[in-house]
Amino acid sequence: MESMKRCVECGASGLRRGSEPAEGKVGPRKFLGEVETLVCRRCGETFTDGAGGVALELAAARWLAQHGFATGDEIRFMRKTAGLRAADLAELLGVSAEAVSHWETGKHRADRGTLATIAALALDRIDGRTTTQERLCAFGKPPRAPKAVKLGAQRAAPIA
Ligand SMILES: [Zn+2]
Repeated sequence: MESMKRCVECGASGLRRGSEPAEGKVGPRKFLGEVETLVCRRCGETFTDGAGGVALELAAARWLAQHGFATGDEIRFMRKTAGLRAADLAELLGVSAEAVSHWETGKHRADRGTLATIAALALDRIDGRTTTQERLCAFGKPPRAPKAVKLGAQRAAPIA
């Protein structure tokens, strides 16, 4: 949309920035926000692209990660936000793909630790990290060797 220079309705070049209300629904909850638009100064036509909607979805995912979620629709939404297929999430958590499917269809409830981990995976993706995914991979294959691990020089932190 940034690249749009002229109104495609009337051909005028005077486009200004605007915003309009937008909403999305995840599971039982509505998320209300605003998305950026371009408005033609001559004919008043309003233009939006998908970027605003995507940003609103990410904001909703961040809210859910911070406040908690439990329904199947929310779990699926957060898994997708995390950029994971159901099979990927199952692999990371060390559960069956069927277990993930049962959470997402509401057949079984996911436990609190699982939900918090899915929240962390989604937040990592939003913020451009892979911390939780790497940790889950590490716990999937805990090291057996070596017997001794060199940690180098450590300085004791002062106790406040
Ligand atoms: Zn126009």
